[in-house]
Parts: sequence; structure tokens; C-alpha cells
Amino acid sequence: MNYCPNCGNKIETNQHYCPSCGQTLIQAVNQEREQNNEIKRIKAKMKEARINEITLALFGGLLIGGGIIFILQRIFTVDIFDVKVVFIDNAAIGGVVAIILGIVCCAGASDYGNKYNELERKL
Ligand SMILES: [Zn+2]
Repeated sequence: MNYCPNCGNKIETNQHYCPSCGQTLIQAVNQEREQNNEIKRIKAKMKEARINEITLALFGGLLIGGGIIFILQRIFTVDIFDVKVVFIDNAAIGGVVAIILGIVCCAGASDYGNKYNELERKL
């Protein structure tokens, strides 16, 4: 439902003049249409931002979790003169790389989260 910008009278969308005060209404109808389109655009961008945020957060979480498990599996102990010495296999660097990539993904997810909030404020 539209309202006359001049007197606030309820008007049908196909009316060109307000039946109450005679105000020209085409401009008001176009303005509302533009506003609605802008809201649709913002909502589409918000949806995209949220999908990217969730995808990156899931991916980042998997990389960090996987990296930690990978490193833990590369830890081994060797007895040297009755002393247990802990070693980490060189391959554990793969786990470190996975964790770093995971952190980058989480940072990206956070950026998309901020973008979502920014767009929401425009509504
Ligand atoms: Zn009016």
C-alpha cells in the first residue's frame, strides 16, 4: 500500500493523482519501486556474504582441525639413554601450512561477517 507523500492518504498504485489533495503520484510510485529494488539488491548481497562467511568458516575450521590432528600424528618419542625425547616428523610442516591456511580462511569469514553487518545497517 502506498501513501500520498503530501497528505498521507492511502492510494492505489495505478493512481496518478492523490484523490484527496491532487498531488502528482508517479514520482512517489517510482521512488518506492527504486527503494524496493535497492532493498532486493542489498538482501541478495547479504545472502552472498553469509554463504561465503559460512563456507570459509567451515573450510577454515576443517583445515585448522585437520592440521592439528596431522601434527599430533607426526609426534614420536625416542629413548636416548633412558630419557624420552620428543621429536616431530618434518612432514608436520604440512599441518602447520594447513593451520595457517585455516586461519586465513577464518579471517576471510570474519570479513564477510562484517560485510553482512554493514549491508544490514543499510536496510
Ligand atoms: Zn494527497
